[in-house]
Amino acid sequence: MDGTVELLCKIFLGLIGLCVGSFLNVLIYRLPLGINLASPPSHCPQCNAKIKWYDNIPLLSYLILGGKCRNCKKKIPFRYFAVELGNVLLWIAVLILFDLSVYAVVYALLASALLAIVFIDAEHGIIPDSLNLFIAGLGVVVTVYSIFYPEIAGMVGTYAVAWWEYLVGGAGAMLLYLAVYGLYKLIRKREGLGGGDIKLMGALGLVLGYRSVLLCIGLSAVLACIYLAVLAAKRKLKAEKPFAFGPFIAAAAYLCALFGNCLIGLYLGLF
Ligand SMILES: [Zn+2]
Repeated sequence: MDGTVELLCKIFLGLIGLCVGSFLNVLIYRLPLGINLASPPSHCPQCNAKIKWYDNIPLLSYLILGGKCRNCKKKIPFRYFAVELGNVLLWIAVLILFDLSVYAVVYALLASALLAIVFIDAEHGIIPDSLNLFIAGLGVVVTVYSIFYPEIAGMVGTYAVAWWEYLVGGAGAMLLYLAVYGLYKLIRKREGLGGGDIKLMGALGLVLGYRSVLLCIGLSAVLACIYLAVLAAKRKLKAEKPFAFGPFIAAAAYLCALFGNCLIGLYLGLF
């Protein structure tokens, strides 16, 4: 592809990333509360005033309005700005690593779904089925695509992932989490993992393949342990409070989508 055309395509994708980030804010707020995503149109949660289109431009509107509602002047949570900025940065990293490819589109959409999961699970302690289904759908796309193009474009040291590796990843990760769930319940007589975590792992296995998802399982546990250790050190750890594991799975999954294949490829190249 022509260099200029390629750059324009990437800028265009970046702008879509901003709009998707804006939509994620709607999703994060409405999905757990069961509110329709399309109607009513965006309004201020404080004063209910309808938000005009020019006050709904990703990133810019928040900065221009100084993080306050135009009507009631109450503060708009910083989360709205952070999600929009976060989503576009996650997309830029994907575009840099995977260029313009089907894998780039799949991983960018995966990143957005994971970002929504981070905020919804942290606040409400649930992972909506619709997001897990969306990720599983991305997994089906990758699995079918890999039958024709198993080589993941972009990075050095990548290895080709066969279509069956995605299927093994989906089934394997879910069974592994189910086993952990069952064991924990048997020993501690209470639930350690949520049903949402188990479904999320199955969906991630399907989109990452079994090797990357194993890496993701390990990494998410390490990230969660570090977080719990920091909490314990600050004496802020409350045993009775349910612990949202979703954000750690999401962070690990994003890192594994970006670097898992490359790391595994380099590792396999050692032999
Ligand atoms: Zn307002």
